[in-house]
Amino acid sequence: MGYSEAVLKFESFLERKLALDSALALIFWDQSTGAPKGGAAARAKTVGILSGESFAMSVSDEMKEHLNNLSKYEAEFDEKVAAMYRICKKDYESMEKIPKDEFAAYSELLSGAEVIWEEAKEKNNYLLFAPVLSQIIEYLKKFLGYRGFTGHPYNTLLDDYEPGLNVTDADAFFAEIKESLAPLLKKITESGKKINADFTKTTVPVEIQQKIADFLMEEMGFDFNRGMIKTSEHPFTNGTGRTDVRITTHYYENSFLSSLYSVLHETGHAIYEQNTDEALAGTILDSGISMGIHESQSRFYENIIGRSSAFWENIHEKLLTILPDEFKNISARDFYLAANIVKPSLIRIEADELTYTLHILIRYEMEKYIFSNDVDVYELPALWNKKYEEYMGIKPQSDSEGILQDVHWASGLFGYFPSYSLGNAYAAQIAYCMNKDFDVNSAIRSGDYAKIKQWLTDKIHKHASVLLPAEIIHKLSGEELNAKYFTDYCYKKFTEIYEI
Ligand code: ZN
Repeated sequence: MGYSEAVLKFESFLERKLALDSALALIFWDQSTGAPKGGAAARAKTVGILSGESFAMSVSDEMKEHLNNLSKYEAEFDEKVAAMYRICKKDYESMEKIPKDEFAAYSELLSGAEVIWEEAKEKNNYLLFAPVLSQIIEYLKKFLGYRGFTGHPYNTLLDDYEPGLNVTDADAFFAEIKESLAPLLKKITESGKKINADFTKTTVPVEIQQKIADFLMEEMGFDFNRGMIKTSEHPFTNGTGRTDVRITTHYYENSFLSSLYSVLHETGHAIYEQNTDEALAGTILDSGISMGIHESQSRFYENIIGRSSAFWENIHEKLLTILPDEFKNISARDFYLAANIVKPSLIRIEADELTYTLHILIRYEMEKYIFSNDVDVYELPALWNKKYEEYMGIKPQSDSEGILQDVHWASGLFGYFPSYSLGNAYAAQIAYCMNKDFDVNSAIRSGDYAKIKQWLTDKIHKHASVLLPAEIIHKLSGEELNAKYFTDYCYKKFTEIYEI
C-alpha cells in the first residue's frame, strides 16, 4: 500500500470513530440540558454501547494495522498526519498494555465510585469513601507499572491531560506560585481592606441575565450560527467540532456575576473550538490540544478580559441599560472591585483568581505524594487540612469541605488538576505577548474584541490539536511556560486593588 492510500484508509477509519464520539457528545449535552428523566436508563444503555465501540476501535487490531502501515512513511508525514498518528499511537500504546480484564474491573469500580463519593460527601464521612479511593489508587499504580514511566511515576498521569508536562517542570512552576502567591495572600488578608459587594446580591431576573449573556457572547465574537447556549446544573462547553459548539450556564437570581463570569469562561472555550483551521474540520484534530491550553482560553476571557478594569469601563454604560434600575448608581470601578475580591476559602470552585491556584497547588502536592509513596488513604484528610492551614491560613472543619469536595479522584482523574493552574499561567503569559503587538487594555476599553480574537486565532486556535502545548507556547512567546508572568500579573493587579 502506498503512502496516500494508507493515509486515506486511516482517515476514513477515524471518521467512523469520530462519528461515535460526536453522537456521545450530543447525548451528554442533551442529558445535561433537559432530556426527560424517564429516558435515563435507555440512554445509559446507548451510551454504554457507543462508548464501548469507540474505545474498542482505539485499541483494535485494525488501529494497530493502520499504525503499522503508516509507520513506514514517517519521513513523508505532513503536520496533520503526524499529529493524527501521534495521538492514536499514544492512546493505543497506553491502553493495549493493560490486561483487558483488569481494565474492565477498574471501569466497573469507577462506575460505582461516584455514588459512594456523593454519599460520603453528603454524610461528611470520609471512611465511606476511603476503601474505594484506595482501590482506585492501587489500580492506577498497577496500570502505571504496565504503561511505564520515565522519571517520576506521576509523569505519565500528568502527560495524560497535558501532553509533555512532567514533575520537574510542574515542581518549578508550583514553587514559583508558592513563593509568590502565599505571601501576597497573607498581605491582602492582613490589609483589612473591605470591598463592598452587597449590590451583586441584588435580584436580577433570569430573562435579564440571559440578555447579558447574549450581549457578552456577541461582543466577544461567539458565532451563533455555529453554536448556542442553554442552562445546566454545572456550566460546560461541548460540541462536535468547529461548526457546532455549545455552552451552558447556570443562572442564580441573587448572584448575577456568577453567570456573567461563567458565560465569559465558557465563551473562551467555545471561541477556541470555533476558530480552529477550517481544513481540519471532520478530523480528530478539530479540537483544542489539551486541558491546560483550553483552560488558558477560558481564563483569558473570564479573567484577563472580564476581570480587568478596562472591561468594566467598556461595558458599564451598556450593562446599566440592561440591568434593573437598582444598579444605576453603581460605577464601573465598583463592579471591577466587587469582581476581584480575594479571600482565602475552603472550596475550590468558589475561589477567586488568586487563591484558585493555591487550591490546585495543594492537590498537586497531594497527588505527587500519593504516587511516590506507599500511601495509607486514612492519613490523607489530615494532610489535606494541614496544607490548607499552611497555604491559606484556614482549616476545614469537615471532610465535606475538605478532601471530599471534588469528584475528580472518584472518577480516577489523577493528574488532571494541575492543568487548571497551567491555564491561568498560560493566559498571563499569552497576555504579556499580546501586549507586545498591541495594547490589550486599550483594545478592551474600546470594545475591539475582534482584534483580540484574531490574535488568539492566529497564534493558538487555528492550530487545534496539531501542535503540542509546549510548541504553541514556545512559538508565540519564544520561551517555555513561565509562572512569573502570572505572579507578576497578580502582584500588579492586587497590590493596586488592596492598596498594599
Ligand atoms: Zn474551563
